[in-house]
Formats: sequence, C-alpha cells, structure tokens
Amino acid sequence: MIDYKEYLKRIEQVDKKINAFVRFDKGKIEERAARQKKGALGGVPVAIKDNICVKDELTTCGSKILEGFKPPYDATVITKLKDAGAILFGKVNMDEFAFGSSCETSCYGPTKNPWNLTRIPGGSSGGSAAAVASGEVQMALGSDTGGSIRQPAALCGVVGMKPTYGCVSRYGLIAFASSLDQIGPITKDVFDCARLLSVITGYDEKDSTSLAIKERDYTKMLTKEVDIKGQKIGIPKEYFIKGIDREIEKQLRASIKILEKLGAEIIEISLPHTEYAVSCYYIIASAEASSNLARFDGVQYGLRGDASRGMIEMYIDTRNKGFGEEAKRRILLGTYALSSGYYEAYYLKAQKVRNKIIDDFVNAFKICDCIVTPTSPTPAFKLGERLDDPLSMYLSDIFTIPANLAGIPGISIPCGFTKAGLPIGLQILGGRYGEERLLQVAYAFEQNTDFHLEEPNL
Ligand code: GLN
Repeated sequence: MIDYKEYLKRIEQVDKKINAFVRFDKGKIEERAARQKKGALGGVPVAIKDNICVKDELTTCGSKILEGFKPPYDATVITKLKDAGAILFGKVNMDEFAFGSSCETSCYGPTKNPWNLTRIPGGSSGGSAAAVASGEVQMALGSDTGGSIRQPAALCGVVGMKPTYGCVSRYGLIAFASSLDQIGPITKDVFDCARLLSVITGYDEKDSTSLAIKERDYTKMLTKEVDIKGQKIGIPKEYFIKGIDREIEKQLRASIKILEKLGAEIIEISLPHTEYAVSCYYIIASAEASSNLARFDGVQYGLRGDASRGMIEMYIDTRNKGFGEEAKRRILLGTYALSSGYYEAYYLKAQKVRNKIIDDFVNAFKICDCIVTPTSPTPAFKLGERLDDPLSMYLSDIFTIPANLAGIPGISIPCGFTKAGLPIGLQILGGRYGEERLLQVAYAFEQNTDFHLEEPNL
C-alpha cells in the first residue's frame, strides 16, 4: 500500500494544474491519519465530493449560496468511511449542486481533465474523477443523479459505479433530485470499487428510501477464477445511434468481442423508450431540484443577501447572488413543470414515461443478465465548448440517464483511448441488486485488458 504522504505530495505537485480540490488542508489530514482507525479502508486516502456533509467542515456544493456552511453532522457514508479507517482527504470540485456534465459550473472554477488540460473532466463529479485519475487519492466518493459518477469516470479513464437506488444511504447528501440521486465509488480499478462499495452500502434508518439489504463484502467473488462463461450480455440497439463518436463505437465493438471471447453470450436487445429518457429526466430532475433548492433562502444556510429592505427582498437578493446560471435555469424549469395547470402536462407525463423506461429494463433483464453500452457518446470535450449550449450539454448523459430513471446499478470501466489519447468508458448495467454480477463482468474484462493501468502524464 502506498503511504498517504505520497498522495499529499502528489496533490501539491499536480492540483494547481487540474483544480480537483476545493478544500485541502495538509495539517488536518496529518492529524486525521494519526487518529485513523483500523478497518477495511485503513489508511486509504479518499476524496469527498463537495455535496456530501462532513461534520464541522465546509460543504458547499460548488455554490456561492452555501458559502460558510458547515454541517453539524456527518453523512452516513462519511461515518462509515471513518469507521473503516479511511483518511478523508478533503472536498473535491463539482458542477454547482451537481447540475452539469463538465465540472465547469462550480463557483471555484472548472476542473481540468488530467489526460488533456484543455478538456473537461466530465461532471458533475469531475473533481472526484480527476483526483483519482491523477493519483491524488486512491478513491473518491461521487454522486450520480443522471450519470455524474459514470460519465466523469469514463472521461478520466477510471472506474465509477452508481449502485442500485436505495443501497447506499443518501442521508447527508445535499439533495439534487431525491428519486434519482445515489452516492457511489470512483476508483482506479474494479477491486477498489468493490472495496469502497462494501463499506458504504447497507440499510440506514435515517434515509426513508434506504433498502433493507445486508451489508456484504463485494470483493469476495473477485478472484482470478472469476468466470463469466454463459453470461448473457445484452447490447441495446438504441444505444448505437447516429452522433456517437466513431472511435468510441469502434472501441466498444472491440470490447464486446473481448467479453465474447471470455465466454459471454452476446445478444441484441431493444430498449424502445430510450429516446425519451433525456427529456423525461430533465422534467423530473429539474422539478425535484426546484423543490429541494427552495430551502436555500438566506435564513438557515450559508449566504445571506441584503436584509435591510425586508424578508422577501432578502430571499430574492440571496438567491440572485448565490445561485449560478445553470442552477437558476433548473429552478425555473422545475418550478414551471410543477406549477398548477402544467403539472399534468409535464411532471405527470414524465412520470408515466419513466414507467415505460423501467418496463424496458424489466423486459430486457428477462432475456439477458446485464447490458453493455458506451458510457458517453463522445470523449472529453473542450473546456467551454458546451457551456453556452445547455441542450448539447444535456445530451452528454444520454446513455447514463436511463439507469437513474429505472433505479438500477451501472458501472463505467476504462475500455480504451482515442487516437488523441483521451479515455473511453464502457458501461455495464444490471437489474436491481445486480451489483455483484456487474462487478464480476467488469473485473473479468479488466483482468484481460490493461487500460486501467495507464496513467496521465502530468
Ligand atoms: N448531467 C446531468 C445533469 O446535469 C446529471 C448530473 C448528475 O448526475 N448529478 O442533470
């Protein structure tokens, strides 16, 4: 195991270039390391996305509106990490309130892709993925509402997993869209992903959507003998669409061949409602976000605007100064979709479409064990390229969003590089509680390839 001090050095060397950390306090880390417990993650440096509450430590969701906010409690995942002996290495960057696919909307400025500093790292957990990819930490926690763990993992050449909805407690995760949000691991390889997942999963009475699942050690079945012979892997025809980058498609096809060689049976499947997923998601996610963000009004948390002209004016000033452009856009969109007269036409309709998407997966898993797709339709794009074009930004998550709508688990693993040296990710989706199978397929693939061993030149 690498000494945590090596990671501290690495951060001092490279973070100026990539801007993954929004808060990094060497003294505090050393203090923590001295008090660290023995356990499943004893001594492992873990970076935390800035929307997960750590007691008495600034937690700001990359937003000005939470300036100065120090939660009075730990998120359940943080308690679990501390109990397992992990060393919390500080907070990493994200799109404001996790709205985004590029990690550019943070009030701390953009994070850069360690593989190419002129490119975005993906988002919203861009800080988590960049920190792991650049060797600043061994592991990181991200959150995934529509792809925010898997997409940046793919674009940074690391492993990222969104667990089944309800398997990891959301207590202490500052809510974006409560029916979609899920915390998950970002790591260099599948084994570490399984290690971190084993620590953070489990029932939590503090989260009303938490599932009554037993805690388990997901690393147990990841042995050299892991065997995927006879596993039926579905390839959805709707995911190989026009607009998908040629090099990504080619690499995906080559990866499917590798899985086939390992004994998996490849079958073509159909997820017919895929084309509605992005629109459906942006109604539901924005509606839930507008309601969740209503609490940030200058009264209880963070920033308070000018209060000299009365309460309503104070609310307005706080929200006007505190929220960035994308947050305002989502609040407007969500409030509109929930308003009387429009609720039926938008929100209710979107919920019906969501059911269709869930049914697609239920039907697919009758004939296959898991589904393989690209994680992102393109490799990391240039910084600034999509900032003024929200629609093209929203389309970055076309392949990851359906899993959140259906509540199923998904993992992204490295499966190659473009000619220009940008990482490509392969996504594996499974049925609810299908984590073990996903990890096995991912591990088998990883054992037979070496993309995860490549490192960016920083
Ligand atoms: N990019 C998507 C969005 O902006 C997903 C974000 C996420 O998963 N947090 O909503």
